[in-house]
Amino acid sequence: LAVHLVSFLFSKVQEEPNKEVDRFLQAMRLGDEQLKDISSLFLAEMKKGLSAESNAAAVVKMLPTHVRSTPDGSEKGQFLALDLGGSRFKVLCVKVREGKGVRRGRVEMHEKIFPIPQELLEGKGAELFDHVSESLKDFVHENNINMEKKHPLAFTFSFPCEQSSLGQGLLLDWSKNFHVRGVRGKDVVQALREAIDRTGGIDVDVLALVNDTVATMMTCGLDDQHCEVGLIVGTGTNACYMEELRHIDLVEGDEGRMCVNTEWGAFGEDGTLKDYITEFDREVDAASNNPGKQIFEKMVSGMYLGELVRLVLLKMAKLGLLFDGCVSSALRTRGKISTADVAAMEEYRNGLKNTRVILKALGLTPSPEDCVAVQHISTTVSLRSSNLVAAGLVAVLTRIKENRRLRTFRVTVGVDGSVYRTHPQYPKRLHGAVRRLLPECQVRFVVSERGSSRGAALVTAVAQRRVSLRQK
Ligand code: BGC
Ligand code: MG
Repeated sequence: LAVHLVSFLFSKVQEEPNKEVDRFLQAMRLGDEQLKDISSLFLAEMKKGLSAESNAAAVVKMLPTHVRSTPDGSEKGQFLALDLGGSRFKVLCVKVREGKGVRRGRVEMHEKIFPIPQELLEGKGAELFDHVSESLKDFVHENNINMEKKHPLAFTFSFPCEQSSLGQGLLLDWSKNFHVRGVRGKDVVQALREAIDRTGGIDVDVLALVNDTVATMMTCGLDDQHCEVGLIVGTGTNACYMEELRHIDLVEGDEGRMCVNTEWGAFGEDGTLKDYITEFDREVDAASNNPGKQIFEKMVSGMYLGELVRLVLLKMAKLGLLFDGCVSSALRTRGKISTADVAAMEEYRNGLKNTRVILKALGLTPSPEDCVAVQHISTTVSLRSSNLVAAGLVAVLTRIKENRRLRTFRVTVGVDGSVYRTHPQYPKRLHGAVRRLLPECQVRFVVSERGSSRGAALVTAVAQRRVSLRQK
């Protein structure tokens, strides 16, 4: 009976969430009208980034990737690959097989994760790239990869790069937890080559530099020809899509399409999102590695969700709205609530139990009402994230729709990233919001598991084919 009573009370509280908590979170709740507004603001930023006159001043960079088509199944070959800038650094060996019709190409791979010591994330560029090339050498040796001939290598690098070709790219800026000296403005492929030379004993040809969004789109595109958008919601966030070349002023040529890496994480850096920024967003930004930068990313991605929740709890506890006004030192400490905690607090069945365990581990003594309120706060923060991603996606999809002068259309979005893959309700909420905001578009979402590693090999396969054609 007691158990029933408690769960009855819980359900009551959930139906009528604490009014005060509610008022407090109002600024984080975005209705469809606001999401539509954000979507049109983003659409305008995209146009700014694409046009020659406004690109230099544009916050959303809309970077040409030099990837001209999604896979057609004819890609083949064996490649080494590096994946740097996601939640884990990986070295891989990827085999791409040709395929036709329903049995389009196939990709096999094995990978190894190499941890990056924290000091390398804040050290000198050369040290980071030495670590990368030494890991590559270890991998080649451990797997007895024949080094008699030169091996083509694909480099997934999940940061904004200005590329004038597939095999090169100047780093515009670090983001997320990378804060490495002496690489900004430099060609990262060149930096990698130099490190490989210093390491010695491995003979590789770095053929393509690929953003993780692009790699994800390519991986998914192997199975689904409608896949023309790549989306990452992980440690960071970003999206890419196939744009008409005639609209990409920075690249010559008018025929066909090219994938554009939007770098949407930067949205809001010039104050465009001022009506939607809360005091918690400002606090997260001020305490970050890159204040003033990646404003949209800081409202959305896994690196910041837990921190947003922590700041809301801290403020409410200080006001006496939670935990009887008690604040623990853990609750005062940056990083003590992770995105994994947020996901656990929102689990379907065990969410409330998890919430209590997590709060206790923070040295707090939550009442049952506190647990309900905290769960509610988590939901508000993660729901705002999926809603913002939906607003961005709707802008991208609207852009494709307008480009092709279609009233209705079908499109597939390839998705990867830890938040999307591990938060129990994130995908459902995101899909729902996109379909609600853009009913004329039939969107399919496909998780492209480890897409960011596999897809780079597909890009490289295309690049290699072009190189060998030129040599013939
Ligand atoms: C980077 C993007 C990347 C995204 C997801 C952002 O911080 O700027 O290049 O695609 O994270 O990894
Ligand atoms: Mg052009």
